[in-house]
Amino acid sequence: MTETSMTPTSMTPMTPMTPITGKVRTRHTDVAAWVQCPRCLHLVYGRRLDRNLNVCPECGDHRRMTAVRRLDLLLDPGTGEPLGLPVRGADPLGFVDSKPYPERLRAAREATGLREAVVCRRGAIEGNPVIVAAMDFGFMGGSLGADVGELITRAAETALRERLPLLIVTASGGARMQEGAVSLMQMAKTSQALGQLDEAGVLTIALVTDPTYGGVAASYATLCDVIVAEPGARLGFAGPRVIEQTIKERLPEGFQTAEFLREHGMIDVVCPRAGLRPLLGRLLSIGTRSPVPGTGALDAGAPAPGTITVGAGAPAPDPWRTVREARDVARPTALDYFVRVLDVFEELHGDRLSGDCTAIVGGLGRLDGIPMVVIGQQKGNTLAELNARNFGMPTPSGYRKAARLMRLAAKLGLPVLTLVDTPGAYPGREAEEQGQAVAIAENLRLMAGLPVPIVTVVTGEGGSGGALALAVANRVLICSNAVYSVISPEGCAAILWKDAAAAPRAAAALRLTAGELLALGIVDTIIPEPEGGTAGAPDLAASRLRDAVLGALRELLGLDPTEIVRRRRARFRAFGT
Ligand SMILES: [Zn+2]
Repeated sequence: MTETSMTPTSMTPMTPMTPITGKVRTRHTDVAAWVQCPRCLHLVYGRRLDRNLNVCPECGDHRRMTAVRRLDLLLDPGTGEPLGLPVRGADPLGFVDSKPYPERLRAAREATGLREAVVCRRGAIEGNPVIVAAMDFGFMGGSLGADVGELITRAAETALRERLPLLIVTASGGARMQEGAVSLMQMAKTSQALGQLDEAGVLTIALVTDPTYGGVAASYATLCDVIVAEPGARLGFAGPRVIEQTIKERLPEGFQTAEFLREHGMIDVVCPRAGLRPLLGRLLSIGTRSPVPGTGALDAGAPAPGTITVGAGAPAPDPWRTVREARDVARPTALDYFVRVLDVFEELHGDRLSGDCTAIVGGLGRLDGIPMVVIGQQKGNTLAELNARNFGMPTPSGYRKAARLMRLAAKLGLPVLTLVDTPGAYPGREAEEQGQAVAIAENLRLMAGLPVPIVTVVTGEGGSGGALALAVANRVLICSNAVYSVISPEGCAAILWKDAAAAPRAAAALRLTAGELLALGIVDTIIPEPEGGTAGAPDLAASRLRDAVLGALRELLGLDPTEIVRRRRARFRAFGT
């Protein structure tokens, strides 16, 4: 008997919405003719709700979906071959509550037409092959028993054997009590299966649906490389009632929802149901193991046209004017560059620990066909944007987000592009409490040993350690009006001249302009900015940056990981010898 071999006798009720009248037939199942949305209380015609993918058309509430319908929604038509994995249906404890466990299992099977609470298939999403395991909350609350753990593990092992990405759609109340500690062990078993996919460099994606709790949340739901969630989907280890009883407090509105978790750094993307298939398709298409050589005309090793790689060719501007130019709020931000430079960009969020720093952005992208991880310090062009981005001053969670994305790049064998533009790491109380120094130091060490090419471009302000924490690269490029310095000229003037008004003199003394940095070997290449400034010609600036980055990448992509690390370490070992 396999997980889908049983003939459905009846379908799971598609939603806990309240049926108002009799049933009508749709393509998928019988639905109530009229249902009342429990959230907005609107009466919705059953067929309309069904056409709207079980999302309330009035308030956008994402109602539950069966695993089978979920797979129909996500997989390309004509794909979705069952993996045909065995299901044992064991009762390891001989468990009995108000009725014996085997009777409960039988009832769940009859109600859902499934053998277990997860359905595993091999299919494709927007043409990208994938192994999918989709959980069904209608089967005993999607609880994690031995068979569910076994099916998830075997799906992961299939993905490992065939080197195909694994997508897990989660919906679960947690471990299955009726199987006792055997159920608990499934958390360890599935987690180690995902760990093996990490070692093998196979992409894993979780799609979190409502609700995902307990043992599933604390294993495969949150161990995947990318975590996507439906709007409003709740995920947590402890349920809200248990928490409220323990802490004797009311929890805030929206606690443990996808939106709350994104803000707290646990989830990458919150995506409405209708957008899931294209989003997953893009993520799968970028997250392939080997970089695809681009189709551009640049030869390996050739400097990009127009860039400057020898000191004599560098312009010699007034340093203080350059500092002010580098800080001009009208200059393109990291996101401006990503949108202009990349063929496709999917922003990922969160450090999976404490938060999602808005002063560092990053994600998966493709540059001239080359899949890569991109990370950048993000300022803004208006006061509101600057406030929202903390003026480009990252917190420890920003550096930890960057570290997480760099580890993902290492796992998937993708090159990394970082854009540096920060006055410095945020000098705040919480930042210190959360280990700003540790976060920066750990990035320096991580980048030094990262087994994939890293290219950095200083696009504006390269402010001290907070900049270097994204800039331990094989190639460090700089825009011609950008600066890179150990301290701000104002800070240097205040300390050494005891007079902040001496900032222009400090700017000159610090040798922080592109040409001077090139002469010192701090940067390798200058990207000339458009005449009249980058702010007035962002497209031209972006196109020059793109060519320069591609030139640097082409030189590095052919190298093996050991050589990439050796050269990067040699580059930084050489300073001060
Ligand atoms: Zn509604």
